Amino acid sequence: MALDELYREVILDHYRNPRNRKPLESSDAHADGHNPLCGDEISLDLHFDGDVVGEVSIIGRGCSISQSSASMMSEAVKGKTRTEIEELTSRFKAMMDIDSEGDAGLDPDRPGAVLGDLEALQGVRKFPVRIKCANLAWTTLDEALSHHPG
Ligand code: ZN
Repeated sequence: MALDELYREVILDHYRNPRNRKPLESSDAHADGHNPLCGDEISLDLHFDGDVVGEVSIIGRGCSISQSSASMMSEAVKGKTRTEIEELTSRFKAMMDIDSEGDAGLDPDRPGAVLGDLEALQGVRKFPVRIKCANLAWTTLDEALSHHPG
């Protein structure tokens, strides 16, 4: 299977079967994200277990890129500390940055550099207008964390 095709499958799988799409009983950090260019919306809640994100809720609607990115993000942040999440976020944004070399997020020599399913979104860089769709979940994640003390 061609890599592009594999990536498309991963994106469609998360779009059709979004992970963590259920409200949380208790939320420690919340943020809403909106991408007016495309009409994408997401509502994000995080529940912390001590220092790590224990549960994540993503409710949203919009295009396949925005919703699959949100679904993958929700899986990726679970069990991670704030510091680890910030590292993951900067790596993801580096991968999506069309002005960079492009592989910063994928450098196997950097510790923890593997983004897993999220790497499927790197093809989006070919469509600059959709980058905002892919980044929406991560911008919203930043905002939610900024509301959470510690
Ligand atoms: Zn979109």
